[in-house]
Amino acid sequence: MKIQENYSLKNLNTFGVEVSAKYFAEVKDLGDLKYAIEFAKINHLEILFLGGGSNVLFTKSFGGLVIKLDLKGISEAFLNEDEVLVTAKAGENWHEFVQLCLDKNYGGLENLSLIPGNVGTSPMQNIGAYGTEIKDTFVNCKVLNLGSMQVEEFNNEECRFGYRESVFKREGKGKYVILDVTFKLSTENHQLKTEYGAIKTELEKFGIENPTIQDVSRAVISIRQSKLPDPKVTGNAGSFFKNPTVSANQFSKVQKQYPQIPNYPNGEMVKIPAGWLIEQCGWKGKQIGNVASHELQALVIVNKTGAATGKEIYDFSTLIIESVIEKFGIELEREVNII
Ligand SMILES: Cc1cc2nc3c(=O)[nH]c(=O)nc-3n(C[C@H](O)[C@H](O)[C@H](O)COP(=O)(O)OP(=O)(O)OC[C@H]3O[C@@H](n4cnc5c(N)ncnc54)[C@H](O)[C@@H]3O)c2cc1C
Repeated sequence: MKIQENYSLKNLNTFGVEVSAKYFAEVKDLGDLKYAIEFAKINHLEILFLGGGSNVLFTKSFGGLVIKLDLKGISEAFLNEDEVLVTAKAGENWHEFVQLCLDKNYGGLENLSLIPGNVGTSPMQNIGAYGTEIKDTFVNCKVLNLGSMQVEEFNNEECRFGYRESVFKREGKGKYVILDVTFKLSTENHQLKTEYGAIKTELEKFGIENPTIQDVSRAVISIRQSKLPDPKVTGNAGSFFKNPTVSANQFSKVQKQYPQIPNYPNGEMVKIPAGWLIEQCGWKGKQIGNVASHELQALVIVNKTGAATGKEIYDFSTLIIESVIEKFGIELEREVNII
């Protein structure tokens, strides 16, 4: 494995921001990974692990070692007549993995079709869409502990999954590399989730009354393609902010002023769609310099001209945060990892 110097990361981040890594390594197995980590330790370099680069914003070039995880391989083991355990290594592309499972008629991941990125990153923020999160089918993941350099296993509970959260984004941040992930999927009697978003309407449009998991996947893909910008065409990282969760008390104060505010009560707390808040502040479709809020989904910030710097995108996101605080008193949190 070669460690390269001054390596361009433009094609390795979906914002398409032109930055470089002082050192860069693409690792294909555990041996490569350990070697690259050792190289960084000896040379006192900061390490950044990279999957598909679809949830990062580089605000500057990276002065350390970027390790691109390219570990490949998928295996399966049948648990019983109805269930199968499928394990994919970190560098497998998420959507291709979902499609492979669907080709084999394994159910559980269909609502997560077309999410960019790699399998190894999926537990980081418990990726989710259309009423499903990976925690619903996640069994465990193998990780390399960067302190002990031993391989360990985290089960579902130990990952402490939450909304776009896991132990790997909190107390475990920077301590582990995820090597592979195992999911428990159905082989028979699939439990379809079609209530969320426009899935039902889309299936009706297709003229499908008794959908299969493959039909649900097709519906999800069609909805996503109609709403979200394709990063290959317009640089973006999907939802830039998390949907904020506020106390019922705070919510009722905001609701008095804005009775039409959409909301999803969750115990003592209330979740509010960040896209709605941003849109109400007049950001939808608005462009400043090279950066814009997407015209169909205000929550997505795009590299409109293709020439945006990470700093410009970051500053744009700060303006959005400030205006939402000013109008609603609610502070948005960035979902994208800022580097
Ligand atoms: C158009 C678009 C739509 C999207 N829609 C959704 C959606 O519906 N739902 C959703 O949840 N997300 C969505 N996302 C965000 C993104 O696809 C996910 O967060 C995805 O899991 C990121 O994977 P990645 O491999 O590209 O991560 P990267 O951007 O490469 O990395 C993200 C973070 O994880 C770290 N990391 C990467 N791999 C590992 C590893 N193996 N071990 C430890 N740390 C690691 C990186 O250092 C970085 O901090 C969308 C993004 C885009 C561009």
